[in-house]
Amino acid sequence: MQQFISVWVLVLGIAASSCGQAPPLPPLSVNADPLYKNHPQYREGTLTTKRFKHEEIVPLIAKLPAPLFQVQTVGKSMEGRTIYHIKTGNGPVTVLLWSQMHGDESTATMALFDIFNFLQRSDELNPLRELLLTRLNIHFIPMLNPDGAERFTRRNVQDIDINRDAQRLVTPEGQILKRVRDSLSAQWGFNLHDQSRYYAAGTNPKTASISFLAPAYNVEKEINDVRGNAMRLIAMMNRTLQQYIPERVARYDDTHEPRAFGDNIQKWGTSTILIESGGLPNDPEKQELRRLNFVSILTALEGIAQEVYSQYDFTFYDALPFNESNAFHDLILRETEVQRNGRWYKVDLAFRRDEVPVNNFRYYYYRGSISEVGDLSTSFGYEEFRPKGTAPSPAKCIQRSCPMCRNSLSSTWRPY
Ligand SMILES: [Zn+2]
Repeated sequence: MQQFISVWVLVLGIAASSCGQAPPLPPLSVNADPLYKNHPQYREGTLTTKRFKHEEIVPLIAKLPAPLFQVQTVGKSMEGRTIYHIKTGNGPVTVLLWSQMHGDESTATMALFDIFNFLQRSDELNPLRELLLTRLNIHFIPMLNPDGAERFTRRNVQDIDINRDAQRLVTPEGQILKRVRDSLSAQWGFNLHDQSRYYAAGTNPKTASISFLAPAYNVEKEINDVRGNAMRLIAMMNRTLQQYIPERVARYDDTHEPRAFGDNIQKWGTSTILIESGGLPNDPEKQELRRLNFVSILTALEGIAQEVYSQYDFTFYDALPFNESNAFHDLILRETEVQRNGRWYKVDLAFRRDEVPVNNFRYYYYRGSISEVGDLSTSFGYEEFRPKGTAPSPAKCIQRSCPMCRNSLSSTWRPY
């Protein structure tokens, strides 16, 4: 089962049909279209793929103009990379956004730099800029885990998951986040992550492209005003996103995780919204998801500034489908025939592909492997193919020194 096929089998995409009833939608209270439409004008052009490093964001931060932005250094990562705290706006409502606590989750970091560009421009969206800058006091920590970003890995260089360090605080990066949160006592917090691209939005054959969570501050999952406001705001953000990615918005399981930052920051009194960018077809570098993060975060800030989130009911949050983990694969061959011990039988074959980093983690190639075999009628593929009348066989690599194939050349491929 773990043996891989070095070349993808011929693939045809098929359109997945929707099933199940869409939850009712609340009314729309902010207009996201101008932000969505104009995003290419604000898009930070030096960040073009999901793999970028601290050294690429340092010059972008250095050129943020004062007095619009106030930039502070708030400490260093374990390997000595500077972590920045960027402030803008002079309003009474304090908002803190931090991104890339997991080093390989960079979608929102790109969106934050697009937001910095947006705030510097002057165009027909000036009323929105003025609203945000006069009503809000906005604080950003982009790329909280620069050492992880250096290697495009989740954990920091101590091999610790910073998002399980909110209590012990043995990571310098976790200490920084705690210190900044406590110094601000922010009313609102945005915890910006990426999630597996294999999650589905409920039982729909659609990936969970954006998932939300209003983390629980206790095991009873109680709802006080702090958490309730986060739920209301998520209901509003979902309403906005449904225009662009219908039925691809989900929510994370809200089991209380006592070690996680989101759960604790909610407990410490900041209304906390977790945003997870997942998978979207034909968006391997997450550039459309970056655009949706840009739209989603700015309209959320608009909703906070205008207090329209309070018009949304918890039930709209509860109506969001849960993330269905492991529902998706990159490719599924439906009802194909394989042979074992001289007998032929019908199976579905699923494949996933891992990114194998090259060139100091800046680039990657894909390595595909069989991820599941059997009746996969409850799973979905980004691409699906029904190879009628044919049987799959392992691809053959002619390059003896190929690092992908070295181990498989001498063995006989089986679908197990
Ligand atoms: Zn994460």
